Amino acid sequence: MIAKKPFEIARETLKQLTVQKLAPTPLNYQRIYNEIAELPNEPAFPTERLRDIALALPTKTPGQQKQRGLLESSINQLNWEGVKNALMAYGGFSPPAPAPSAPVHVPVVEPAKVAVFSESPALSAPALTSEFFGQIARMIEYVQPALGRDDERFVEQTQTLLQILRQPDTDAVTAKQMLASYSNRLSFAAEDQAEIKIMLLKLLHLIIENISHLSIDDGWLKGQSDALMSVCVPPITLRRLDDVEQRLKDVILKQTEAKTHAVKAQEDMRQMLAAFIERLASMTESTSGFHAQMESSAKLIEQAKSIAEIAPVLKEVVGATRHMAQDSQTARDALQGMKKKVEATEAELSKLHQELDRVSAQARHDPLTGALNRHGLDEAINREVSTVRRNDSPLCVALLDIDNFKKLNDTLGHATGDVALAHLASVAREVMRPQDTLARYGGEEFVILLPDTPMDKGIEAMTRLQRELTKRFFLSGNEKVLITFSAGVAQLLTNETGIQAIKRADQAMYLAKRAGKNRVLGT
Ligand code: GH3
Ligand code: MG
Ligand code: MG
Repeated sequence: MIAKKPFEIARETLKQLTVQKLAPTPLNYQRIYNEIAELPNEPAFPTERLRDIALALPTKTPGQQKQRGLLESSINQLNWEGVKNALMAYGGFSPPAPAPSAPVHVPVVEPAKVAVFSESPALSAPALTSEFFGQIARMIEYVQPALGRDDERFVEQTQTLLQILRQPDTDAVTAKQMLASYSNRLSFAAEDQAEIKIMLLKLLHLIIENISHLSIDDGWLKGQSDALMSVCVPPITLRRLDDVEQRLKDVILKQTEAKTHAVKAQEDMRQMLAAFIERLASMTESTSGFHAQMESSAKLIEQAKSIAEIAPVLKEVVGATRHMAQDSQTARDALQGMKKKVEATEAELSKLHQELDRVSAQARHDPLTGALNRHGLDEAINREVSTVRRNDSPLCVALLDIDNFKKLNDTLGHATGDVALAHLASVAREVMRPQDTLARYGGEEFVILLPDTPMDKGIEAMTRLQRELTKRFFLSGNEKVLITFSAGVAQLLTNETGIQAIKRADQAMYLAKRAGKNRVLGT
Protein backbone atom coordinates (compact mmCIF):
# COMPACT_ATOMS: atom_id res chain seq x y z
CA MET A 1 0.00 0.00 0.00
CA ILE A 2 1.32 3.43 -0.90
CA ALA A 3 1.65 5.71 2.10
CA LYS A 4 -0.65 8.69 1.93
CA LYS A 5 0.81 12.19 1.82
CA PRO A 6 0.04 14.48 4.81
CA PHE A 7 -2.18 16.79 2.76
CA GLU A 8 -4.15 13.81 1.51
CA ILE A 9 -4.62 12.58 5.06
CA ALA A 10 -5.71 16.06 6.14
CA ARG A 11 -8.23 16.28 3.34
CA GLU A 12 -9.56 12.78 4.11
CA THR A 13 -9.75 13.70 7.81
CA LEU A 14 -11.91 16.74 7.09
CA LYS A 15 -14.11 14.63 4.87
CA GLN A 16 -14.54 11.98 7.57
CA LEU A 17 -15.37 14.63 10.17
CA THR A 18 -18.23 15.77 7.94
CA VAL A 19 -19.35 12.25 7.03
CA GLN A 20 -19.34 11.08 10.66
CA LYS A 21 -20.98 14.35 11.73
CA LEU A 22 -18.32 14.98 14.36
CA ALA A 23 -17.68 18.36 15.96
CA PRO A 24 -14.49 19.83 14.44
CA THR A 25 -12.59 19.87 17.74
CA PRO A 26 -8.78 19.42 17.82
CA LEU A 27 -9.28 16.09 19.64
CA ASN A 28 -11.66 14.67 17.02
CA TYR A 29 -9.40 15.94 14.24
CA GLN A 30 -6.37 14.28 15.76
CA ARG A 31 -8.16 10.98 16.36
CA ILE A 32 -9.45 10.70 12.79
CA TYR A 33 -6.11 11.87 11.38
CA ASN A 34 -4.27 9.17 13.35
CA GLU A 35 -6.75 6.54 12.24
CA ILE A 36 -6.28 7.42 8.57
CA ALA A 37 -2.51 7.75 8.87
CA GLU A 38 -2.45 4.51 10.86
CA LEU A 39 -0.65 6.20 13.70
CA PRO A 40 -1.01 5.12 17.35
CA ASN A 41 -3.72 7.24 18.94
CA GLU A 42 -1.66 8.70 21.77
CA PRO A 43 -3.05 11.58 23.78
CA ALA A 44 -1.20 14.90 23.50
CA PHE A 45 1.64 15.58 25.90
CA PRO A 46 0.11 17.53 28.84
CA THR A 47 2.96 20.03 29.09
CA GLU A 48 1.12 22.64 31.16
CA ARG A 49 -0.23 20.11 33.66
CA LEU A 50 3.20 18.59 34.13
CA ARG A 51 4.78 22.02 34.53
CA ASP A 52 2.30 22.72 37.31
CA ILE A 53 3.34 19.50 39.03
CA ALA A 54 7.02 20.37 38.62
CA LEU A 55 6.43 23.83 40.05
CA ALA A 56 4.67 22.35 43.06
CA LEU A 57 7.70 20.21 44.00
CA PRO A 58 9.72 21.83 46.80
CA THR A 59 13.44 22.36 46.15
CA LYS A 60 14.82 22.41 49.65
CA THR A 61 17.89 20.25 48.97
CA PRO A 62 20.39 20.36 46.10
CA GLY A 63 19.20 16.84 45.12
CA GLN A 64 15.59 18.02 44.85
CA GLN A 65 16.74 21.05 42.87
CA LYS A 66 18.62 18.86 40.44
CA GLN A 67 15.76 16.41 39.92
CA ARG A 68 13.24 19.18 39.46
CA GLY A 69 15.56 20.73 36.84
CA LEU A 70 15.74 17.37 35.05
CA LEU A 71 11.99 17.03 35.25
CA GLU A 72 11.45 20.46 33.75
CA SER A 73 13.83 19.84 30.89
CA SER A 74 12.20 16.44 30.18
CA ILE A 75 8.81 18.19 30.08
CA ASN A 76 10.20 20.74 27.63
CA GLN A 77 11.48 17.90 25.43
CA LEU A 78 8.09 16.07 25.70
CA ASN A 79 10.08 13.12 27.00
CA TRP A 80 7.90 10.73 29.06
CA GLU A 81 10.83 8.49 29.98
CA GLY A 82 12.75 11.47 31.36
CA VAL A 83 9.69 12.61 33.33
CA LYS A 84 9.35 9.15 34.85
CA ASN A 85 13.04 8.90 35.79
CA ALA A 86 13.18 12.39 37.29
CA LEU A 87 10.05 11.80 39.37
CA MET A 88 11.37 8.47 40.64
CA ALA A 89 14.71 9.98 41.53
CA TYR A 90 12.97 12.91 43.21
CA GLY A 91 11.05 10.42 45.34
CA GLY A 92 14.30 8.72 46.30
CA PHE A 93 13.85 5.63 44.09
CA SER A 94 16.41 4.54 41.57
CA PRO A 95 15.24 4.66 37.96
CA PRO A 96 14.92 1.28 36.23
CA ALA A 97 18.19 -0.19 34.95
CA PRO A 98 18.97 1.07 31.44
CA ALA A 99 19.21 -1.35 28.51
CA PRO A 100 22.61 -3.11 28.35
CA SER A 101 23.63 -1.31 25.16
CA ALA A 102 23.28 2.11 26.75
CA PRO A 103 26.36 3.53 28.49
CA VAL A 104 25.99 2.77 32.18
CA HIS A 105 27.20 5.04 34.91
CA VAL A 106 28.03 2.91 37.95
CA PRO A 107 28.09 4.83 41.20
CA VAL A 108 31.17 4.19 43.29
CA VAL A 109 30.20 2.29 46.43
CA GLU A 110 32.51 2.16 49.39
CA PRO A 111 33.67 -1.39 50.07
CA ALA A 112 31.75 -3.08 52.87
CA LYS A 113 33.46 -2.70 56.21
CA VAL A 114 31.56 -5.15 58.42
CA ALA A 115 29.26 -8.13 57.88
CA VAL A 116 28.89 -9.06 54.26
CA PHE A 117 25.83 -11.02 53.25
CA SER A 118 25.05 -12.69 49.99
CA GLU A 119 22.17 -15.17 49.52
CA SER A 120 23.56 -16.48 46.29
CA PRO A 121 27.35 -16.25 46.06
CA ALA A 122 27.16 -16.66 42.30
CA LEU A 123 25.44 -13.30 41.88
CA SER A 124 27.14 -10.16 43.09
CA ALA A 125 24.39 -9.15 45.51
CA PRO A 126 24.74 -5.78 47.24
CA ALA A 127 26.64 -5.97 50.48
CA LEU A 128 24.50 -5.71 53.61
CA THR A 129 26.52 -3.97 56.26
CA SER A 130 25.61 -3.17 59.84
CA GLU A 131 25.72 0.43 58.66
CA PHE A 132 23.00 -0.42 56.18
CA PHE A 133 20.88 -2.09 58.89
CA GLY A 134 21.51 0.96 61.06
CA GLN A 135 20.08 3.12 58.34
CA ILE A 136 16.97 0.98 58.05
CA ALA A 137 16.59 1.21 61.83
CA ARG A 138 16.81 4.99 61.66
CA MET A 139 14.26 5.08 58.88
CA ILE A 140 11.86 2.95 60.93
CA GLU A 141 12.33 5.30 63.88
CA TYR A 142 11.58 8.33 61.72
CA VAL A 143 8.40 6.72 60.42
CA GLN A 144 7.24 5.71 63.91
CA PRO A 145 5.63 9.01 65.01
CA ALA A 146 3.48 9.06 61.87
CA LEU A 147 1.95 5.70 62.80
CA GLY A 148 0.97 6.55 66.36
CA ARG A 149 1.42 4.38 69.45
CA ASP A 150 -2.10 3.02 69.84
CA ASP A 151 -1.31 -0.49 68.63
CA GLU A 152 0.80 -1.86 71.47
CA ARG A 153 1.77 -5.06 69.70
CA PHE A 154 3.01 -3.15 66.71
CA VAL A 155 5.05 -0.85 68.95
CA GLU A 156 6.56 -3.90 70.61
CA GLN A 157 7.33 -5.50 67.24
CA THR A 158 9.01 -2.29 66.12
CA GLN A 159 11.18 -2.16 69.25
CA THR A 160 12.32 -5.77 68.80
CA LEU A 161 13.13 -5.17 65.14
CA LEU A 162 15.12 -2.05 66.01
CA GLN A 163 17.13 -4.01 68.57
CA ILE A 164 17.91 -6.78 66.08
CA LEU A 165 18.90 -4.30 63.37
CA ARG A 166 21.26 -2.51 65.75
CA GLN A 167 23.13 -5.60 66.93
CA PRO A 168 26.68 -5.52 65.56
CA ASP A 169 26.48 -9.10 64.20
CA THR A 170 22.93 -9.15 62.92
CA ASP A 171 21.96 -12.28 61.11
CA ALA A 172 20.75 -11.10 57.74
CA VAL A 173 18.24 -13.91 57.22
CA THR A 174 16.53 -13.23 60.57
CA ALA A 175 16.56 -9.51 59.84
CA LYS A 176 15.01 -10.12 56.44
CA GLN A 177 12.19 -12.25 57.89
CA MET A 178 11.47 -9.74 60.60
CA LEU A 179 11.48 -6.90 58.08
CA ALA A 180 8.99 -8.78 55.91
CA SER A 181 6.59 -9.32 58.82
CA TYR A 182 7.10 -5.72 59.96
CA SER A 183 6.35 -4.30 56.52
CA ASN A 184 3.19 -6.38 56.34
CA ARG A 185 1.96 -4.88 59.60
CA LEU A 186 3.23 -1.45 58.56
CA SER A 187 1.00 -1.51 55.51
CA PHE A 188 -2.08 -1.98 57.74
CA ALA A 189 -0.96 0.69 60.18
CA ALA A 190 -0.33 3.14 57.35
CA GLU A 191 -3.75 2.41 55.85
CA ASP A 192 -5.33 2.98 59.27
CA GLN A 193 -3.60 6.33 59.62
CA ALA A 194 -4.72 7.41 56.17
CA GLU A 195 -8.30 6.47 57.01
CA ILE A 196 -8.14 8.22 60.36
CA LYS A 197 -6.99 11.35 58.57
CA ILE A 198 -9.90 11.17 56.13
CA MET A 199 -12.39 10.60 58.97
CA LEU A 200 -10.97 13.53 60.94
CA LEU A 201 -11.32 15.74 57.91
CA LYS A 202 -14.93 14.63 57.51
CA LEU A 203 -15.57 15.45 61.16
CA LEU A 204 -14.00 18.86 60.71
CA HIS A 205 -16.29 19.47 57.73
CA LEU A 206 -19.30 18.49 59.81
CA ILE A 207 -18.31 20.86 62.61
CA ILE A 208 -17.80 23.75 60.22
CA GLU A 209 -21.10 23.01 58.48
CA ASN A 210 -22.85 23.00 61.84
CA ILE A 211 -21.36 26.32 62.85
CA SER A 212 -22.55 27.90 59.64
CA HIS A 213 -26.06 26.43 60.03
CA LEU A 214 -26.27 27.73 63.58
CA SER A 215 -25.54 31.23 62.43
CA ILE A 216 -27.34 31.37 59.14
CA ASP A 217 -28.29 35.03 59.62
CA ASP A 218 -24.75 36.19 60.21
CA GLY A 219 -23.23 36.92 56.81
CA TRP A 220 -19.75 37.44 58.14
CA LEU A 221 -19.65 34.14 59.92
CA LYS A 222 -21.17 32.32 56.94
CA GLY A 223 -18.48 33.76 54.67
CA GLN A 224 -15.75 32.71 57.09
CA SER A 225 -17.04 29.17 57.46
CA ASP A 226 -17.38 28.78 53.68
CA ALA A 227 -13.76 29.88 53.33
CA LEU A 228 -12.82 27.51 56.12
CA MET A 229 -14.54 24.67 54.31
CA SER A 230 -12.64 25.41 51.13
CA VAL A 231 -9.23 25.32 52.82
CA CYS A 232 -9.69 22.05 54.64
CA VAL A 233 -9.74 19.82 51.59
CA PRO A 234 -6.79 17.59 50.71
CA PRO A 235 -3.91 17.93 50.13
CA ILE A 236 -3.53 19.07 53.70
CA THR A 237 -0.13 20.55 54.49
CA LEU A 238 1.12 21.97 57.78
CA ARG A 239 0.79 25.43 56.29
CA ARG A 240 -2.84 24.83 55.41
CA LEU A 241 -3.57 23.39 58.84
CA ASP A 242 -2.06 26.54 60.31
CA ASP A 243 -4.40 28.53 58.11
CA VAL A 244 -7.38 26.44 59.22
CA GLU A 245 -6.40 26.99 62.86
CA GLN A 246 -6.20 30.75 62.43
CA ARG A 247 -9.56 30.85 60.69
CA LEU A 248 -11.22 28.68 63.33
CA LYS A 249 -9.89 31.03 66.00
CA ASP A 250 -11.47 33.95 64.16
CA VAL A 251 -14.78 32.13 63.83
CA ILE A 252 -14.80 31.07 67.49
CA LEU A 253 -14.00 34.60 68.59
CA LYS A 254 -16.86 35.93 66.51
CA GLN A 255 -19.20 33.19 67.71
CA THR A 256 -18.41 33.97 71.37
CA GLU A 257 -19.03 37.67 70.81
CA ALA A 258 -22.29 36.92 69.04
CA LYS A 259 -23.41 34.65 71.86
CA THR A 260 -22.65 37.18 74.63
CA HIS A 261 -24.54 39.76 72.63
CA ALA A 262 -27.56 37.49 72.13
CA VAL A 263 -27.68 36.40 75.78
CA LYS A 264 -27.58 40.01 76.99
CA ALA A 265 -30.31 41.14 74.62
CA GLN A 266 -32.46 38.18 75.63
CA GLU A 267 -32.05 38.94 79.35
CA ASP A 268 -32.94 42.61 78.86
CA MET A 269 -36.04 41.72 76.90
CA ARG A 270 -37.10 39.11 79.47
CA GLN A 271 -36.84 41.64 82.30
CA MET A 272 -38.81 44.23 80.40
CA LEU A 273 -41.51 41.78 79.48
CA ALA A 274 -41.84 40.67 83.13
CA ALA A 275 -42.17 44.29 84.30
CA PHE A 276 -44.76 44.98 81.62
CA ILE A 277 -46.90 41.98 82.59
CA GLU A 278 -46.67 42.94 86.27
CA ARG A 279 -47.80 46.45 85.48
CA LEU A 280 -50.63 45.20 83.29
CA ALA A 281 -51.82 42.91 86.06
CA SER A 282 -51.89 45.68 88.67
CA MET A 283 -53.72 47.94 86.23
CA THR A 284 -56.40 45.32 85.63
CA GLU A 285 -56.67 44.76 89.36
CA SER A 286 -57.22 48.42 90.17
CA THR A 287 -59.64 48.85 87.22
CA SER A 288 -61.79 45.91 88.30
CA GLY A 289 -61.69 47.20 91.93
CA PHE A 290 -62.87 50.54 90.62
CA HIS A 291 -65.68 48.94 88.66
CA ALA A 292 -66.87 46.99 91.71
CA GLN A 293 -66.81 50.14 93.81
CA MET A 294 -68.74 52.07 91.17
CA GLU A 295 -71.39 49.35 91.00
CA SER A 296 -71.93 49.27 94.75
CA SER A 297 -71.98 53.08 94.87
CA ALA A 298 -74.61 53.16 92.11
CA LYS A 299 -76.73 50.72 94.09
CA LEU A 300 -76.39 52.84 97.24
CA ILE A 301 -77.38 55.95 95.27
CA GLU A 302 -80.45 54.15 93.89
CA GLN A 303 -81.57 53.12 97.34
CA ALA A 304 -80.87 56.54 98.96
CA LYS A 305 -83.86 58.38 100.17
CA SER A 306 -82.24 61.72 100.90
CA ILE A 307 -79.36 63.91 99.80
CA ALA A 308 -77.76 63.35 103.16
CA GLU A 309 -77.54 59.64 102.38
CA ILE A 310 -76.00 60.33 98.95
CA ALA A 311 -73.26 62.67 100.23
CA PRO A 312 -70.95 60.01 101.74
CA VAL A 313 -71.43 57.78 98.67
CA LEU A 314 -70.42 60.65 96.41
CA LYS A 315 -67.37 61.25 98.58
CA GLU A 316 -66.37 57.62 98.11
CA VAL A 317 -66.94 57.81 94.33
CA VAL A 318 -64.74 60.92 94.07
CA GLY A 319 -62.07 59.23 96.22
CA ALA A 320 -62.12 56.04 94.14
CA THR A 321 -61.97 58.02 90.89
CA ARG A 322 -59.03 60.04 92.13
CA HIS A 323 -57.34 56.83 93.20
CA MET A 324 -58.01 55.29 89.79
CA ALA A 325 -56.56 58.37 88.05
CA GLN A 326 -53.46 58.17 90.23
CA ASP A 327 -53.05 54.49 89.40
CA SER A 328 -53.34 55.20 85.69
CA GLN A 329 -50.78 57.97 85.98
CA THR A 330 -48.36 55.62 87.76
CA ALA A 331 -48.93 52.99 85.08
CA ARG A 332 -48.33 55.54 82.33
CA ASP A 333 -45.13 56.68 84.06
CA ALA A 334 -43.94 53.08 84.39
CA LEU A 335 -44.65 52.34 80.73
CA GLN A 336 -42.86 55.55 79.75
CA GLY A 337 -39.89 54.38 81.83
CA MET A 338 -39.94 51.01 80.09
CA LYS A 339 -40.06 52.65 76.68
CA LYS A 340 -36.94 54.61 77.58
CA LYS A 341 -35.27 51.41 78.72
CA VAL A 342 -36.10 49.68 75.42
CA GLU A 343 -34.58 52.61 73.56
CA ALA A 344 -31.46 52.40 75.72
CA THR A 345 -31.17 48.67 75.02
CA GLU A 346 -31.54 49.33 71.31
CA ALA A 347 -28.72 51.87 71.46
CA GLU A 348 -26.61 49.37 73.37
CA LEU A 349 -27.26 46.67 70.77
CA SER A 350 -26.23 48.97 67.95
CA LYS A 351 -23.04 49.75 69.91
CA LEU A 352 -22.46 46.01 70.22
CA HIS A 353 -22.87 45.65 66.47
CA GLN A 354 -20.19 48.26 65.92
CA GLU A 355 -17.98 46.44 68.38
CA LEU A 356 -18.52 43.22 66.42
CA ASP A 357 -17.50 44.95 63.23
CA ARG A 358 -14.36 46.07 64.98
CA VAL A 359 -13.69 42.47 66.04
CA SER A 360 -14.24 41.37 62.43
CA ALA A 361 -11.62 43.87 61.35
CA GLN A 362 -9.21 42.16 63.71
CA ALA A 363 -9.75 38.86 61.92
CA ARG A 364 -7.08 37.73 59.52
CA HIS A 365 -9.23 36.84 56.54
CA ASP A 366 -11.26 38.79 54.11
CA PRO A 367 -14.78 37.30 54.12
CA LEU A 368 -15.52 38.07 50.45
CA THR A 369 -12.52 36.32 48.93
CA GLY A 370 -11.27 34.12 51.74
CA ALA A 371 -7.79 35.58 51.17
CA LEU A 372 -5.80 37.00 54.08
CA ASN A 373 -6.64 40.61 54.91
CA ARG A 374 -4.03 43.31 55.68
CA HIS A 375 -3.70 42.15 59.27
CA GLY A 376 -3.23 38.53 58.12
CA LEU A 377 -0.77 39.64 55.44
CA ASP A 378 1.36 41.50 58.01
CA GLU A 379 1.67 38.34 60.08
CA ALA A 380 2.28 36.09 57.06
CA ILE A 381 4.96 38.28 55.52
CA ASN A 382 6.85 38.54 58.80
CA ARG A 383 6.76 34.78 59.10
CA GLU A 384 7.91 34.26 55.50
CA VAL A 385 10.70 36.83 55.75
CA SER A 386 12.15 35.23 58.86
CA THR A 387 11.93 31.76 57.27
CA VAL A 388 13.76 32.80 54.11
CA ARG A 389 16.41 34.61 56.14
CA ARG A 390 16.93 31.44 58.17
CA ASN A 391 17.05 29.16 55.10
CA ASP A 392 18.85 31.65 52.92
CA SER A 393 16.29 31.04 50.17
CA PRO A 394 14.69 33.57 47.80
CA LEU A 395 11.22 35.06 48.39
CA CYS A 396 9.17 36.79 45.74
CA VAL A 397 6.42 39.26 46.52
CA ALA A 398 3.87 39.97 43.78
CA LEU A 399 1.23 42.69 43.78
CA LEU A 400 -1.60 42.55 41.28
CA ASP A 401 -4.33 45.04 40.51
CA ILE A 402 -7.39 44.17 38.39
CA ASP A 403 -7.57 46.19 35.17
CA ASN A 404 -10.47 48.58 34.58
CA PHE A 405 -12.35 47.33 37.59
CA LYS A 406 -14.26 50.55 38.06
CA LYS A 407 -15.68 50.11 34.57
CA LEU A 408 -16.75 46.54 35.39
CA ASN A 409 -18.54 47.82 38.52
CA ASP A 410 -20.15 50.62 36.58
CA THR A 411 -21.40 48.46 33.73
CA LEU A 412 -22.30 45.19 35.49
CA GLY A 413 -22.95 46.35 39.04
CA HIS A 414 -21.10 46.19 42.33
CA ALA A 415 -22.38 42.69 43.10
CA THR A 416 -20.76 41.37 39.90
CA GLY A 417 -17.61 43.23 40.92
CA ASP A 418 -17.68 41.24 44.15
CA VAL A 419 -18.09 37.98 42.20
CA ALA A 420 -15.08 38.98 40.07
CA LEU A 421 -12.96 39.44 43.20
CA ALA A 422 -13.96 36.05 44.60
CA HIS A 423 -13.37 34.47 41.17
CA LEU A 424 -9.85 35.88 40.93
CA ALA A 425 -9.04 34.63 44.43
CA SER A 426 -10.32 31.15 43.69
CA VAL A 427 -8.38 30.85 40.39
CA ALA A 428 -5.26 32.16 42.15
CA ARG A 429 -5.60 29.58 44.93
CA GLU A 430 -5.92 26.81 42.36
CA VAL A 431 -2.96 27.91 40.28
CA MET A 432 -0.63 28.71 43.16
CA ARG A 433 1.43 26.15 45.05
CA PRO A 434 0.23 25.14 48.53
CA GLN A 435 3.11 27.04 50.11
CA ASP A 436 2.16 30.35 48.46
CA THR A 437 0.06 32.92 50.31
CA LEU A 438 -2.73 35.04 48.86
CA ALA A 439 -3.82 38.27 50.56
CA ARG A 440 -6.27 41.01 49.65
CA TYR A 441 -4.18 44.16 49.85
CA GLY A 442 -6.90 46.67 49.03
CA GLY A 443 -10.15 46.94 47.02
CA GLU A 444 -9.08 45.12 43.84
CA GLU A 445 -5.44 44.60 44.73
CA PHE A 446 -3.95 41.34 45.88
CA VAL A 447 -0.52 40.37 47.20
CA ILE A 448 0.96 36.92 46.63
CA LEU A 449 3.93 35.66 48.63
CA LEU A 450 6.02 33.08 46.80
CA PRO A 451 8.58 31.41 49.07
CA ASP A 452 11.61 29.57 47.61
CA THR A 453 11.12 31.49 44.39
CA PRO A 454 13.70 33.60 42.55
CA MET A 455 12.66 36.52 40.36
CA ASP A 456 12.36 34.72 37.00
CA LYS A 457 10.20 31.98 38.53
CA GLY A 458 8.10 34.60 40.31
CA ILE A 459 7.36 36.35 37.04
CA GLU A 460 6.66 32.98 35.46
CA ALA A 461 4.17 32.08 38.20
CA MET A 462 2.30 35.36 37.84
CA THR A 463 2.23 35.03 34.06
CA ARG A 464 0.77 31.56 34.51
CA LEU A 465 -1.97 32.95 36.72
CA GLN A 466 -2.62 35.67 34.18
CA ARG A 467 -2.91 33.11 31.38
CA GLU A 468 -5.19 30.91 33.47
CA LEU A 469 -7.44 33.86 34.24
CA THR A 470 -7.81 34.73 30.56
CA LYS A 471 -8.93 31.16 29.96
CA ARG A 472 -11.57 31.13 32.69
CA PHE A 473 -14.53 33.45 32.56
CA PHE A 474 -17.39 33.69 35.01
CA LEU A 475 -21.02 34.41 34.30
CA SER A 476 -22.93 37.57 35.10
CA GLY A 477 -26.45 36.55 34.13
CA ASN A 478 -25.89 35.13 30.66
CA GLU A 479 -22.87 37.28 29.99
CA LYS A 480 -19.35 35.82 30.09
CA VAL A 481 -16.98 38.09 32.00
CA LEU A 482 -13.21 37.94 31.66
CA ILE A 483 -10.89 39.87 33.92
CA THR A 484 -7.24 40.76 33.48
CA PHE A 485 -4.71 42.23 35.86
CA SER A 486 -1.42 44.06 35.90
CA ALA A 487 1.22 42.87 38.32
CA GLY A 488 4.63 43.78 39.70
CA VAL A 489 7.04 41.26 41.17
CA ALA A 490 9.88 42.00 43.59
CA GLN A 491 12.41 39.59 45.05
CA LEU A 492 13.14 40.32 48.71
CA LEU A 493 16.55 42.00 49.08
CA THR A 494 18.98 41.42 51.92
CA ASN A 495 18.14 43.87 54.74
CA GLU A 496 14.83 44.77 53.15
CA THR A 497 11.56 44.46 55.09
CA GLY A 498 8.56 42.66 53.62
CA ILE A 499 6.62 45.95 53.45
CA GLN A 500 9.46 47.55 51.45
CA ALA A 501 9.40 44.64 48.99
CA ILE A 502 5.62 45.09 48.57
CA LYS A 503 6.22 48.81 47.88
CA ARG A 504 8.67 47.89 45.12
CA ALA A 505 6.23 45.38 43.67
CA ASP A 506 3.59 48.13 43.75
CA GLN A 507 5.88 50.45 41.75
CA ALA A 508 6.46 47.71 39.17
CA MET A 509 2.69 47.14 39.01
CA TYR A 510 2.22 50.85 38.35
CA LEU A 511 4.72 50.65 35.49
CA ALA A 512 2.83 47.62 34.11
CA LYS A 513 -0.34 49.74 34.09
CA ARG A 514 1.49 52.57 32.34
CA ALA A 515 2.87 50.15 29.76
CA GLY A 516 -0.67 49.15 28.68
CA LYS A 517 -2.05 46.86 31.48
CA ASN A 518 -2.62 43.08 31.37
CA ARG A 519 1.07 42.35 31.95
CA VAL A 520 3.61 41.34 34.60
CA LEU A 521 6.77 43.33 35.30
CA GLY A 522 9.66 42.55 37.62
CA THR A 523 11.67 45.14 39.50
P1 GH3 B 1 -6.90 50.40 36.60
O1 GH3 B 1 -6.97 49.47 35.44
O2 GH3 B 1 -6.03 51.58 36.33
O3 GH3 B 1 -6.52 49.70 37.86
O4 GH3 B 1 -8.37 50.98 36.78
P2 GH3 B 1 -9.44 50.53 37.83
O5 GH3 B 1 -10.77 50.98 37.34
O6 GH3 B 1 -9.30 49.09 38.12
O7 GH3 B 1 -8.96 51.25 39.14
P3 GH3 B 1 -9.62 52.31 40.08
O8 GH3 B 1 -8.68 52.45 41.23
O9 GH3 B 1 -10.00 53.55 39.33
O10 GH3 B 1 -10.96 51.63 40.59
C1 GH3 B 1 -10.98 50.60 41.50
C2 GH3 B 1 -12.41 50.30 41.79
O11 GH3 B 1 -12.55 49.16 42.64
C3 GH3 B 1 -13.11 51.43 42.51
C4 GH3 B 1 -13.90 50.73 43.62
O12 GH3 B 1 -15.25 51.12 43.59
C5 GH3 B 1 -13.78 49.28 43.29
N1 GH3 B 1 -13.79 48.42 44.49
C6 GH3 B 1 -12.98 48.47 45.56
N2 GH3 B 1 -13.33 47.51 46.46
C7 GH3 B 1 -14.39 46.85 45.94
C8 GH3 B 1 -15.20 45.75 46.40
O13 GH3 B 1 -15.02 45.18 47.48
N3 GH3 B 1 -16.19 45.34 45.58
C9 GH3 B 1 -16.42 45.93 44.37
N4 GH3 B 1 -17.40 45.46 43.61
N5 GH3 B 1 -15.69 46.97 43.93
C10 GH3 B 1 -14.68 47.43 44.69
MG1 MG C 1 -6.27 49.76 42.39
MG1 MG D 1 -7.51 48.42 39.06
